[in-house]
Amino acid sequence: MKKCIVCKIITLLGGLGALNWGLVALFDVNLVSKALGEATTASTVVYTLIGVAGLLLIVSIFKCCPCVKKSA
Ligand SMILES: [Zn+2]
Repeated sequence: MKKCIVCKIITLLGGLGALNWGLVALFDVNLVSKALGEATTASTVVYTLIGVAGLLLIVSIFKCCPCVKKSA
């Protein structure tokens, strides 16, 4: 099963967000706030993107990616 670029980005963002949470829990290191600063516009954008990616990942359990339908 091939993944389109959109699915790859969503999975990457969701995975990075999950990894970041794991690092916060285990090492008390938040990579996003470390790289972009705490409560900055940039970190808010990243958290929002990760949140949207997570939502889309959950939706993708129930729905096939529309790009896959197009190519089929
Ligand atoms: Zn896709």
